[in-house]
Amino acid sequence: MINVSALQHNLAVARAAAEGARVMAVIKGNAYGHGLLRVAYALRQADAFAVTSVEEAIPLREAGFAHPILLLEGPYEPGEVHLASRYRLDIAVHSEWQVSVLQGARLSRPVNVWLKVDSGMHRLGLPPEQVRSAYTRMASLSAVAPHIRLMTHLARADELAAETTCKQMASFAEAVEGLRGERSIANSAGLLGWPETRTGWVRPGIMLYGASPFGAGPPPHARLRPAMSLTTRINAVYEHRAGDAIGYGGAWICPENMPVAVAAIGYADGYPRHAPSGTPVLVNGQRARLIGRVSMDMICLDVRGLQEPAEVGDLVTLWGPGLPAEEVAEHAGTIAYELFCTVTQRVRFQEQRDPDGQDQEPL
Ligand SMILES: *Cc1c(COP(=O)(O)O)cnc(C)c1O
Repeated sequence: MINVSALQHNLAVARAAAEGARVMAVIKGNAYGHGLLRVAYALRQADAFAVTSVEEAIPLREAGFAHPILLLEGPYEPGEVHLASRYRLDIAVHSEWQVSVLQGARLSRPVNVWLKVDSGMHRLGLPPEQVRSAYTRMASLSAVAPHIRLMTHLARADELAAETTCKQMASFAEAVEGLRGERSIANSAGLLGWPETRTGWVRPGIMLYGASPFGAGPPPHARLRPAMSLTTRINAVYEHRAGDAIGYGGAWICPENMPVAVAAIGYADGYPRHAPSGTPVLVNGQRARLIGRVSMDMICLDVRGLQEPAEVGDLVTLWGPGLPAEEVAEHAGTIAYELFCTVTQRVRFQEQRDPDGQDQEPL
């Protein structure tokens, strides 16, 4: 279930935190597993969208979205510059190879460029000392539209005590000093945790989906609403005896005579196979826990001590309101981002709105 009202609420939270900076909604990875077009439509009040591939960007244009759309990794091959021009896609430029592609390109319409600086993450980005030269060369190219923008990405903004973010800010400031153009620095963690990164354009992703970029710990803000709830039903409840081993590998042994429920979800749906015994789930809104190994289509649940005994047909929530994906992710040794992205095609997506949810104007 995808709650459209929650997406819109989270965008409003991002906008308020941005303090006047423009908000580029990051909807790469099929909108973090929430559905690209569905989310773009829900978040059409954003000032721009960011994706990683032309395969994600072109359907947005074809669906009628007129927003700026940034390709966060820029062109992967020369032909994509022509697609960017044709579909009016902005491109990140993070390497000399991409600059040379632009140098050789003959385009009927120039493309908007976001020059990406490696301020210390050491993944994508031009080294600071090469930024000026690349900027100057690109500014003179017919393939590049006026008003080059300057961006960087933060490696450790989710760690509020780490010094890396301050160092990155300083490195970026030095690399772009005196260069004209709007700046873009903040991801969700920057936007929520590092006020100095709220400049120009902010690029929130995970927070729009209602998960904290800071993981399961107490968040420095509590106003996000989970947009995704992954739910299923109980399809059997058994009374097992003390000593009975549950599921593949007999990985969990009943310590006493106890009720065990089976829920119809597994790793073929994207529930993480490595989630260990003890991972929380909700049964009719009450906390229960996973026991034994996650199968392809099923999980077993310890349903002792529920106020209402578990029954066939009861609603089981794997994550969603009342059970943050961040908490489940921490048990499973991953992050909410991955849980969202790995929900599979087999899962039926439905949309939900608050009863008083305002539907906005059509495109
Ligand atoms: C994915 C991404 C974001 C969004 O990050 P979140 O942590 O999801 O907010 C922002 N900027 C860039 C360059 C990204 O790749």
